[in-house]
Amino acid sequence: MLDGWIRRRIVWYLKNSQVLAWRVKRRGECVRCGKCCELCLAHDAKNKRCRIYVIRPSICKAFPLTPEDIENIQTCGFYFKK
Ligand code: SF4
Ligand code: SF4
Repeated sequence: MLDGWIRRRIVWYLKNSQVLAWRVKRRGECVRCGKCCELCLAHDAKNKRCRIYVIRPSICKAFPLTPEDIENIQTCGFYFKK
């Protein structure tokens, strides 16, 4: 999980062109399963909500950035077109 957190930040800050390319192929919507937030201190697991939702970082709004972000999250409502 932590390696995904680090990889995501590398992609976000250093390889943003990849993010934009994958964005075009991204479909679906967030079904609020909370899986992408599990490691975050702002995540309220009990109520399945983000405590700072209104001011959450841009990288959170952009999740999933690439297919790798959700390859182990079966519950995510997003997917990427081949
Ligand atoms: S959306 Fe909120 S809870 Fe989820 S990772 Fe971002 S800040 Fe944390
Ligand atoms: S894993 Fe996907 S569906 Fe679940 S909270 Fe994150 S973006 Fe939303």
